[in-house]
Amino acid sequence: MPTVKSYAATQADKPLEPFQLNRREPGPLDIEIEILYCGVCHSDIHTARNEWGRTMYPVVPGHEIVGKVTRIGDQITAHQVGDTVGVGCFVDSCMHCENCSDGLEQYCLNGNSQTYNALEQDKKTITYGGYATHITVTEHFVLRIADNLPLEKVAPLLCAGITTYSPLRYWGLGSGDKLGIVGLGGLGHMAVKLGASMGAEVTILSRSAAKEKDALELGAHHFALTTETDTMKELAGTFDYILDTVSAPHDYNSYLPLLKTNGVMILVGVPPKPSDVQAGNLIMSRRSLVGSLVGGVKETQEMLDYCAKHNITSDVEVISINQINEAYDRTVAGDVHYRFVIDMASLKAS
Ligand code: NAP
Ligand code: ZN
Repeated sequence: MPTVKSYAATQADKPLEPFQLNRREPGPLDIEIEILYCGVCHSDIHTARNEWGRTMYPVVPGHEIVGKVTRIGDQITAHQVGDTVGVGCFVDSCMHCENCSDGLEQYCLNGNSQTYNALEQDKKTITYGGYATHITVTEHFVLRIADNLPLEKVAPLLCAGITTYSPLRYWGLGSGDKLGIVGLGGLGHMAVKLGASMGAEVTILSRSAAKEKDALELGAHHFALTTETDTMKELAGTFDYILDTVSAPHDYNSYLPLLKTNGVMILVGVPPKPSDVQAGNLIMSRRSLVGSLVGGVKETQEMLDYCAKHNITSDVEVISINQINEAYDRTVAGDVHYRFVIDMASLKAS
């Protein structure tokens, strides 16, 4: 069993620290990957700090993984040693329920295996994520990565990219639609790029005035400061869609009135505490409040190919593994431009 270097959280209130991890020997349908880069998602922080209350310690976070194939099982035909590949938010699912059959493995009716802090399909073995030098993953969940884009900027597409791409496609964002994006962080900045590329008129709704310049440079058409009451009043009834990427508890009722009649507010941010919804904000204009979880394998590949074609990548700050705890604190403080990505060579060398 290969032992690999990783970084783990061992308690909610302790910094992440070096951790030795056993990966399985590749079986006939497995692919062993040397991880080159892993993005830092706010879900990693919610989990490491047990903010969702279901963390199994020690936890090795990381689900925005890009690397090179190092070994393959003897039944693998779609990938070869040396290929550039990616792994996203889940590494297995039952593969036979209605949702898996429809390519919606993220909604597996028998429970999929998330990349970390979850159970493999044997329902016993705990999964460990991408803050590690290697990972072994069953072939169906390994994505092809085009070689024309810088890999450190591609890694965040595996979560932040697909999480914003999937709902925009599902709810049919199209040319001329007015899209409001709440929160300019990892998910928010990918939503700007993807939404604009689909022809929408994009407005960033942010509590951080300092992000206005960046929002416009990333491709947003407008920037609105959510702390300004007059601005929020002016925006009432103007959006076809609002995509809410906020990680902390906040009031959905501040944003719902900004939707047009029949408008849709899509939640992708997962704050640790629930929020009340005033029925009138939905009823009076037949608005919808909906949610979406990452995307299935087929759609993730479609998104990666779309980004390769349209030259869409993440804006990243590359860090060494020993800067991970500082990166967590900066992400929570909203000081991320716009995704931290770990260069895994730093872990190998440590
Ligand atoms: P992030 O980079 O930290 O961005 C979150 C943004 O939310 C911040 O940059 C900030 O933007 C805004 N924000 C933070 N605290 C706020 C507050 N108290 N009030 C208002 N706005 C606040 O996080 P991320 O990696 O994009 O993840 C965002 C959320 O999505 C997390 O909860 C994560 O767990 C979740 N997530 C969900 C899925 C899914 O499948 N649904 C997948 C991945 C992640 P401004 O400074 O611009 O206001
Ligand atoms: Zn994520």
